[in-house]
Amino acid sequence: MRTRFAPSPTGFLHLGGARTALFNWAFARKAKGTFVLRIEDTDPLRSREEFVQAICGDLAWLGVDWDEGPDRGGPFGPYRQSERGAIYEEFLRRLQREGYVYPCYCTAEELEREREEALEEGRPPRYSRRCLFLTPEERRVLEKEGRKPSWRFRVPPGRTVTVEDLVRGQVSFTTDTLTDFVLVRSDGLPTYNFACVVDDALMRITHVLRGEEHLPNTPYQVLLYEALGFPPPLFAHVPVILSPNGTKLSKRHGDTSLRFFREEGFLKEALLNYLLTLGHSFPGGKEILPQEELVSLFDLKRISKSNAVFDIARLTWMNRMYLRELPLEVLRERVQAFAGATWEVWEKILGEERLLRLLALFQEESSTLKDLVSSLSLALGETKTLAGENETLLPALSLALSRIPEDTFEDETRLQEELRRAQKASGIPPRMFYRTLRVLLIGREEGPELHRLLWALGKRRVLESLEKFTQRAGSGHGDSTIQYPDP
Ligand code: GLU
Repeated sequence: MRTRFAPSPTGFLHLGGARTALFNWAFARKAKGTFVLRIEDTDPLRSREEFVQAICGDLAWLGVDWDEGPDRGGPFGPYRQSERGAIYEEFLRRLQREGYVYPCYCTAEELEREREEALEEGRPPRYSRRCLFLTPEERRVLEKEGRKPSWRFRVPPGRTVTVEDLVRGQVSFTTDTLTDFVLVRSDGLPTYNFACVVDDALMRITHVLRGEEHLPNTPYQVLLYEALGFPPPLFAHVPVILSPNGTKLSKRHGDTSLRFFREEGFLKEALLNYLLTLGHSFPGGKEILPQEELVSLFDLKRISKSNAVFDIARLTWMNRMYLRELPLEVLRERVQAFAGATWEVWEKILGEERLLRLLALFQEESSTLKDLVSSLSLALGETKTLAGENETLLPALSLALSRIPEDTFEDETRLQEELRRAQKASGIPPRMFYRTLRVLLIGREEGPELHRLLWALGKRRVLESLEKFTQRAGSGHGDSTIQYPDP
């Protein structure tokens, strides 16, 4: 069993592409088959090396590994279409010899005119086959004019091409609605349909799982397999991903690249899980599954025939679940990578152990790495503001907290009692006491329980924070309105 993912490097890997890759990958891994990565870069104007790198990098980040591909080689390489020109030429010659193709000298303008005429007359635009009937003499004249032909496949009339699609069931096309499609353009470059069929055949791909938008290409590809004498693979066309308002998910709905979600602080585990539940369901309606099960329970029969809707709220929920479960050491690596050099600044402020305590507290309430990093920035940054009437509470707050013995800060249970006592002793009403203190310590009113924050931060940092505010308030730098920064 051999599957493949065949991206065109004309942009970043988007969610739909990542899902296609994952479906092919999971399907191959489950069957202990082979998963191939092939780069479809026949369009030199739109293909860019940086996108090849970005796509490979994002797939690897997600945890998708391939057995054969441009970077690893394999028995059926090269795995970049731009390096397979000689192979396509050879197959074109074979089709020429056997009379499956004919040269077409029509210019882009002529074809466009034909297309417009057809549309005006309400006919579906199909190539008129004008060049099919040229005499050898007419061809010679056109060649003399310097015209370079493209090569079109002669679609047999009056036939029905049937595809047994593993998701959609039997889908039939009558060849009378198909057009004589171009295999090789006048500049010598192969088209997608041609290169794809030659490669899938030579790379011995047994199953093609891809987006439904390629279903209309499938009858053309099936005709080509026939002409080349290769058995076609099995096809499975996966319904497209829709935005919540029912249109096809695209850039219009914000950035839909995998990289965007990566940069927004989503975890690879959550994205992998989420994408495998997008248009594919697991037994018992389970939504979160261990990775082994995501693979072992993946089943083409469980791919939905109807379109999947991308739901950012569900992805965010899933991410939160995964984030919560990450072992602290792993979380630390992820946050450190996400925060970059700032992590060291925080370590200097708080020391490693306390920073990890704070990290663990924020872990429980954050949905993404980005949330977590902004909570830490706010808590350990200098941007907290406290003003107006609350400033007058500072001396009482400081005094009450300074009386809590230092070693109590290491004991969460005792700290909880001491904090209650400190509040009573301060004479500040409980809600105001806790709210003000939380703003002072982490820059916002809501957040982890206070005694746990004190435990994480330690007495020194707590008193320092209060001190800083007292100084600022005393030097008149405080605002006169109550202002809490956005969390
Ligand atoms: N290069 C094509 C794409 O990116 C591949 C389609 C296919 O899987 O056949 O859409």
